[in-house]
Amino acid sequence: MSTVELVNLDILPIGDVSSNDLDVIASALRDHYRVDVSIHAPYSLADLPEGTYSASRDRYNGNELAALAGANGDGELNLVVTSADLFAAETEHISEKTFVFGCSFLEGNGAVMSTHRLKPQGVRSLLSRGSNELVTNRLRVQAVKHVGHMIGLDGCTDATCVLAQSTDLDALDEREPRFCRSCSRSTTRFDVVR
Ligand SMILES: [Zn+2]
Repeated sequence: MSTVELVNLDILPIGDVSSNDLDVIASALRDHYRVDVSIHAPYSLADLPEGTYSASRDRYNGNELAALAGANGDGELNLVVTSADLFAAETEHISEKTFVFGCSFLEGNGAVMSTHRLKPQGVRSLLSRGSNELVTNRLRVQAVKHVGHMIGLDGCTDATCVLAQSTDLDALDEREPRFCRSCSRSTTRFDVVR
């Protein structure tokens, strides 16, 4: 009798990340992937190497944090969850993005997602778009999407698919943590997807 081994997935909290958010993310990942989730001891933003923070942008470099996840995590897959606001630096494949919800490399071992823009801030916290249910859905979608990219699932153009790119909260709120029909078919190639 053969058993499918769980893939070790380490979550690395950086900054002010609540244990509730970590629980939401860990359970979303266990729902969608055959993973054994561990939560790494938290880092403070002050622990981050110089160069990860850009003073001119007042944001952290998402590409660097994704690489840091891979280098410091204990898992085969490693996801930084941070309260820091992120930008994506220019790479060979993409131009710079002023702000991003997260960064991941296709078939990489590290990714980052930020809670910063998923939460209502200031006056927006009085508006309905910041309800707990919405925030929970955003956390789940971002976690499933970035781990999907790490295992080799590419971006998708179906607006409702968890693998679609979201450039703002309205787009993100159209998604649920679920693969579209076309992506569901391709996930059968990946043992790690439930
Ligand atoms: Zn899709």
